Amino acid sequence: MPLKFFNTKTRRAGNFKALKKTVGLYTCGPTVYNYAHIGNLRTYIFEDLLKRTLLGANFRVKHVMNITDVGHLTDDADLGEDKMEKGARREGKSAWDIAKFYTKEFQKDLKALNILPPDVWCRATDHIKEQIALIRTLERKGYTYLTSDGVYFDTKKFRAYGVLVGKEGLRGLQEGARVEKHPEKRNATDFALWKFSPAGQKRQMEWLSPWGVGFPGWHIECSAMSMKYLGATFDIHCGGIDHIQIHHTNEIAQSESATGKPFARYWLHGEFLTIDDGRMGKSEGNFIPLHLVIERGINPFAYRYLLLQTHYRKQLSFSWEALDAAEQGYRNLIARVAALGSGSRISAAESGMTKDVKNAFEDDLNAPEALAALWKALKSATPPSQKTIFALDAWFGLALKKSVAALNKKTRVPAAIKKLLSERETARAEKKWLLADQLREKMLKAGWQIDDSPTGSTVHKD
Ligand code: AMP
Ligand code: ZN
Repeated sequence: MPLKFFNTKTRRAGNFKALKKTVGLYTCGPTVYNYAHIGNLRTYIFEDLLKRTLLGANFRVKHVMNITDVGHLTDDADLGEDKMEKGARREGKSAWDIAKFYTKEFQKDLKALNILPPDVWCRATDHIKEQIALIRTLERKGYTYLTSDGVYFDTKKFRAYGVLVGKEGLRGLQEGARVEKHPEKRNATDFALWKFSPAGQKRQMEWLSPWGVGFPGWHIECSAMSMKYLGATFDIHCGGIDHIQIHHTNEIAQSESATGKPFARYWLHGEFLTIDDGRMGKSEGNFIPLHLVIERGINPFAYRYLLLQTHYRKQLSFSWEALDAAEQGYRNLIARVAALGSGSRISAAESGMTKDVKNAFEDDLNAPEALAALWKALKSATPPSQKTIFALDAWFGLALKKSVAALNKKTRVPAAIKKLLSERETARAEKKWLLADQLREKMLKAGWQIDDSPTGSTVHKD
């Protein structure tokens, strides 16, 4: 069965055909002026499911992710402040320091959620030369104009402007953008390729360019770096839905104008994680970073499990209650899998489940259906083997093998504790209460809790 994805560009789900055996995948990375929040991480998990599905279908994948450490402004009209400089002021550190710190934190988050790392990490500040070269090409081809604050792209000159949003969307964009007026822009949808450092002010991050000292616009970095590592035309470009209207629309305009070739062929976008009916956002003040989830004693895999229950193109409303329920669900899953035999027999039911799980992922990453197929098989009269489940976890990324091993370790009672437990049972039967209490203390000290019941005593570790 061919892979099927919903392509924002064509507005429909269609079969995926790769350009070559190795799929080129570009995913817009974080702006590192603060922690990523679990909404951002929802997008990175959806992209991870995409990558795992491609790998599961025997494609090789060259995955590139950028780190936006300069140029992302606080508003889309190119008049705002650079988020990095603002973040640096908030923390009383240099922009370079906060970029370094939050990049590391982001990479830690990816690891904690079992997100496969990209093959290429690229920082915008390491690719200034490539961005200037791309702007020069656009200038040479007549797509740019100068204003008092920068070099702008003239969107009227690119005939296909707005393919991702359609005619209706483009009209909305033109009207919406007009509200936040930039006095010197020729068209409301025009955008900055290079911004000058404000007169009389030295920015922390600034470079010399043919047009003056300044810094690159946010959109140009993704065009320059994706094309550098994946070529002018590549397979898949992803991000959250907020990127469709401006960031990705502008990436297409400048890339295709510069090369005269189609840019990314498939555009996949993940829906928002919302909270209290609003989008979770770094600037919204309602954001929950992953470390807060961990500090609450919640396993990060519970969050991954929660996300798997909703299709990536549907909005998901976050609540702590839903996360608690997902944690319970994840625990139940681990307990079920731990209770299975570790034999390697493959029954007819097992291969049916494997097919159902794969088919679900290959049908526009339908993780909820894949999860349902997994549970159905686990609850059936002939459940699959652990080995099969662990193999399928390559798609889910729930670290099942590791979690099952951890559970087994936790529940495996060492011989010395078994001996103490049996001695305590005897002491209790002989009504030697003092001795029974001393034995109990010994076990507690070793980290084992005792559960007494009418049928006998058992131990468990906290
Ligand atoms: P940023 O660091 O703001 O550039 O965003 C990083 C990624 O997170 C982008 O792909 C955004 O589209 C995505 N994103 C931002 N907010 C949300 C949200 N509330 N839910 C899901 N994805 C989001
Ligand atoms: Zn981007």
